This record gives sequence, structure tokens and C-alpha cells, in this order.
Amino acid sequence: MSNQYIAPFSNARDINLMQIKAAKASGRKVVGIYCAYCPQELILAAGAIPVSLCGTREEPIPAAEVLLPRNLCPLIKSSFGFAVTDTCPFFHFSDLVIGETTCDGKRKMFELMHELKPVHVMQLPHNNVSPAAFDLWADELRRLRLRLEEELNTRITDESLWQAMELVGQERKFIKAMFDLNQADPPLFTGLELLTVSWSRNFSSDKGGLIGQLQQLLENVREKPTGTPAPRVLLTGCPVGLGSEKVITVTEDLGAHIVAMENCSGYKTVDLQYDNTIDDPIIALAQMYLGIPCSCMSPNPQRLELIERMIADFKVDAVIDLTWQACHTYNIESYHVGKLVKEKGLPYLHLESDYSNSDKENIKVRVQAMLEMIEK
Ligand code: SF4
Ligand code: SF4
Repeated sequence: MSNQYIAPFSNARDINLMQIKAAKASGRKVVGIYCAYCPQELILAAGAIPVSLCGTREEPIPAAEVLLPRNLCPLIKSSFGFAVTDTCPFFHFSDLVIGETTCDGKRKMFELMHELKPVHVMQLPHNNVSPAAFDLWADELRRLRLRLEEELNTRITDESLWQAMELVGQERKFIKAMFDLNQADPPLFTGLELLTVSWSRNFSSDKGGLIGQLQQLLENVREKPTGTPAPRVLLTGCPVGLGSEKVITVTEDLGAHIVAMENCSGYKTVDLQYDNTIDDPIIALAQMYLGIPCSCMSPNPQRLELIERMIADFKVDAVIDLTWQACHTYNIESYHVGKLVKEKGLPYLHLESDYSNSDKENIKVRVQAMLEMIEK
């Protein structure tokens, strides 16, 4: 990683771990989350620290496979493996874990996780346009609010909730501003740098401090000298984190730039801002979160609209669509994504993989072939 300004984010996980340990010792609560649909504003408004527990490493998968089927998404197995082996300090420190019924694997995995920790599962509708789906989701947010109050022995006031919504909204604006700097050609950040910054925010115990760091990064990096022009690739599909970034590194090692990521680690949630004309913060939150263009929604035209917009804004030359093995929703949706990208006259590569490195050479050959198709 060449960009010196990224360094403070590279070891953010370890620093935040020490801060969370200290916060726990002083009586602050920690709430583990797994998905972009989880309204972290409610956790912040309860005075607790939200931390991401999404598994991105291969190591704990064999332990998970003792209880879970092998042909399950690696993200679910990794997340469960960390929990069952008690090797993730963030899971260890969590007083409550929040899950959502996003896909079959996760929904059923949370039933097993109940034996390890208090788990609250939000019933996520699989459609984001019908009034009934909206009402269900708003009720689920109210139910979560009550559970947090009970479990953490606190009260979540509307005032504290609005404040948390403002804070998270600011963080998203800065993250979006950072991603948008890569609309420049050549881009200002490598894909791995984008991932490092966006991933590190999942463990922050101090949102205000994180926003200050992001502000500083944006000021500093504008002075960074420009790099070398190269093919500009958009990564879409399943979530990627530090530890499961092999497609990014393979692509960049071949000389291309991952200029943007549409997935959860990237652009999928950066536009989420609440409607401040709504009086009830729960309704404002429900509306905002239901707008996330995840493949667990059916249909999911908003994702295609986002990809189309990103192809234009980031001057994309090719699209890689990454599906983790056994993720049926992203796998099937790749049909629509591929069609859209090909209609734009761009090379499209759909990869199905897991967290191991056994297919790295194969991925390299396929990415190389895709890059050779780019007309420059
Ligand atoms: S891809 Fe969808 S289900 Fe998975 S973490 Fe993101 S929002 Fe949640
Ligand atoms: S990547 Fe797909 S299968 Fe895995 S947890 Fe996310 S939605 Fe579920």
C-alpha cells in the first residue's frame, strides 16, 4: 500500500480493539452486527458501540463446518466459525448480537448462534416497495429499539436517535467523498486502499474521531501526485473485507485499477441519508434502510441503477461481479448485471469463489483475459 495517508486506517482494528476493551471495562456496552441493514443509529443512541462481526477470513471455517453444511457461503461459515471458536474479540465483547433474515443461510445460522450469545434477529422483508413490507420493517425497528433498551438497561430517546442519525449521516458523506475522488483518472486510491478505509470504520468506538480522521484524509490526499492511467474496473457482488480481498489484489497486481466497489464494503450504502422532513425517527430510519439495493430484495432494480450510474461516474472500462459460493441471490442476479454491462459494450466477468486461495491462479487467468478485451 503506497498511500501514506491510509496508514492510520491500516491498524485501526487493533487500536479500536484496545479502546473497546477499555470502554467495556468502564461499563459501556458493545453490540455486534452483521449486515448493512442493521440500523446502527439505534445502537449509538442507546450509548453502546456497534461493531461489525462479518467474517472475512478462512481460518475459522473448518470449525464452523462441524455444525454447518460445507456448501454454505464462506461469509456465513467464517462469521459462525469465529463465534463458535471464540476467536473474534469483537464477538467476545458483544453484549448482544443483531442479525437479519437476509438469506436462508444467515437466517438459520442465527438459530445456532442463540446458544452462544443473546441474539436479536430482525425480520427483513424481501421486497422494498409494498406498504406491508414497509410496515413490517418499521415494526422491526421498534422491536429492536425495545430489545436494546431492555438488554442494555437504558432508554433510547428520539433526541438521542436524531443525533446518532446525524452523526452516521456525516460519516457516510465523508466516505462517499473519499470514494468519489476515484472518479479522477488516474484514480487517487487503489481498491485495497478504499477497502482499508471503509472496512476500518466498522470497528470504531468513536464516530466523532473517525469523522475527523476521514476529514483529514480528504484534505491530505488531494495533494497526492497522480498515478499511472490503467484499465478502470468496477467490483460488484457479495461483500468483501480485509482477509477476503483476493479479487482486488489479483486485479491490481495485473496492472488494472479497482476504481470503485458497488458492494456493501463500498458504495451500496454511502447515499443513505434520512429524510429530515419526517417527524418520527423510526419511520425515517425504516425508509432509509429499506432503500439498500441488496440482492436479498426481489426485485432489486435499484442495484442495476446504481451500477449504471457508477459505470458512468467512475468511467469504468470493465465490471467484475463476485459471488461467494452458495450465495444464490447474488449468483442469480448476476444474469441482470451481466446483461446491463454487456449492453453498455463493456467486458463483464462473473466469478464464483470462496475464501481459499486455491483458485487464485484461475482467477488471475480469467481477469487477465477480461482486461485484454478492454478497448483503449
Ligand atoms: S450483501 Fe446484503 S445481506 Fe449481505 S451484508 Fe450486504 S446488505 Fe447485508
Ligand atoms: S454473501 Fe450471500 S449467502 Fe452470504 S451472507 Fe451475504 S447474502 Fe447471504
